[in-house]
Amino acid sequence: MKLVDFRDVCRNSPPKDVLERAWLGLDKERLAGVREVRLYDDDPRANSKTPKAYGRYVPHGNTRQADVELYFWRIAELPSRLQSNEMYLVFILSRTFAHELYHHAIIGQRIKRQPRKSVEEDRCRKFGQRVASEIVHSVYPEEKFRRLWKEMREDLSQGD
Ligand SMILES: [Zn+2]
Repeated sequence: MKLVDFRDVCRNSPPKDVLERAWLGLDKERLAGVREVRLYDDDPRANSKTPKAYGRYVPHGNTRQADVELYFWRIAELPSRLQSNEMYLVFILSRTFAHELYHHAIIGQRIKRQPRKSVEEDRCRKFGQRVASEIVHSVYPEEKFRRLWKEMREDLSQGD
C-alpha cells in the first residue's frame, strides 16, 4: 500500500509521513489488496447527484484489489485550533480510512450473504471509530502528548 498525495491547500494537514506512520503499522491482512491511498483537497467525484464525501472505496473491477480516496475539505470547516491539532486530524482521517477498509473486507470476503447496505454502513462506522481510537492512543500516548489531548477535549466540548 502506498500513499499518493494530490493535496495542495491541505498538504500539511497533516503531512503525508505522519499518516504513513499511523497507517502502515495496521494489520497486514486489513491492508492486503489496497494498492493506493490517494489524498485530495476536495472530492473530485462529487457532482449534482453525488454529494461530497469524506472518503471513497474504489474497487478495481472484479479483482480483490482496490484504492481508497480521502478528501480533506472538511478540515477547513473545523474550529480553528482543531485544524492544527495533528492528533485530532489523524483521528478523523483514520476513522474514514478504517471505514473504507471495512468495506474492503466485506467485499473481499465474497460471502454469500452480504449485509444490507445500512447494516454494512453501521458496522463500517463502528469499526472506523474503534480503529481510529486505537491509532491515536498508540501514536499519541496521553502521558506524552498532554497538551494535544487537553486542547482536543476543550475544543470538542465547546462544539456541543
Ligand atoms: Zn461507507
